[in-house]
Amino acid sequence: MNLARFKKISLGHFPTPLEFMPNLTRLLGGPNLYVKRDDCTGLATGGNKTRKLEYLVADAVEQGADTLVTQGATQSNHVRQTAAAARRLGMDCHALLERRVTNMGSDYETAGNVLLDDMFRCEYQFRDEGLDMNAEAEAYGSALRDRGRKPYVIPGGGSNPVGALGYVDCAAELVRQADTTGLRIDTIVHASGSAGTQAGLVAGLHAINAPINTIGISVRADRDKQIANVLRLARATYDHIGARGELPAERVVAYDEYVGPGYGQPTDEMVDAISLAASEEGILLDPVYSGKGMAGLIDLVRNGTLKSGENVVFLHTGGSAALFAYEHLFSRQRAA
Ligand SMILES: *Cc1c(COP(=O)(O)O)cnc(C)c1O
Repeated sequence: MNLARFKKISLGHFPTPLEFMPNLTRLLGGPNLYVKRDDCTGLATGGNKTRKLEYLVADAVEQGADTLVTQGATQSNHVRQTAAAARRLGMDCHALLERRVTNMGSDYETAGNVLLDDMFRCEYQFRDEGLDMNAEAEAYGSALRDRGRKPYVIPGGGSNPVGALGYVDCAAELVRQADTTGLRIDTIVHASGSAGTQAGLVAGLHAINAPINTIGISVRADRDKQIANVLRLARATYDHIGARGELPAERVVAYDEYVGPGYGQPTDEMVDAISLAASEEGILLDPVYSGKGMAGLIDLVRNGTLKSGENVVFLHTGGSAALFAYEHLFSRQRAA
């Protein structure tokens, strides 16, 4: 594996810290819990899309693009980071926002990530739920091309073999950090959506022979579908980096028990997990992704899947900007 032959443009602050979480570890009484701070990637409040965008944007520049086109849900962290990356490179960003969550009140389409999209002068349009959003983004890109623009279309979540390179990188970075500090990592747990994060991690870890498990906590799809999506992209990424042999299917593990009523819909366990991370560790999670990922981690400790003596890393994928679109769940004044 030689990642250096893939071009990337620096957009973030790397390596992100790997930190011990003493209070959560003590409170839960199971494995030693660490956090890999990919919420601190630096780009526009940070998050996991930064690593993917470093490779995607380099590809866009190489192709002579002047406009980034992408899509996501209304409170998309991916759209927000793409919009910021476009600004950094002097490009425009056009985004399609899917109304996937429609019962969250009047601020949902203006606050949080959407406010930041406004600040980065992102041109966004809303779409009703249920369309093939990647096809919509391609069609939108074609229309821009007909008008003389040079669009580069990024799929939802930046999840293709180019974007997933960012998490191949992260796998190597994490293993280097662990080696430096003498830490044996057993398992990585993180929120999984469009699959690029887990696919890149799994491909990267296997390519460097690191015996570390990854557990994806699905935020949307059922287990079988999520595993199939991750494995498909992980294998494509594994081929893309020119790694030898075949990626074993057992490398991909996912749980769907923490989705609740649906994508972006709150669960009690998510609210508790966010409150616990904030009050015990001073760490901000988010309601759509990392809060459900942490809810999954907590349950897997409590039900004994993750055991004491093990070293478990929670990959914090970011998302805290979305907290401000879910204020009603956390405001003590509003609850009073
Ligand atoms: C996009 C996102 C994820 C999921 O990552 P995928 O690569 O889409 O699976 C997790 N957490 C946050 C905060 C995200 O924005």
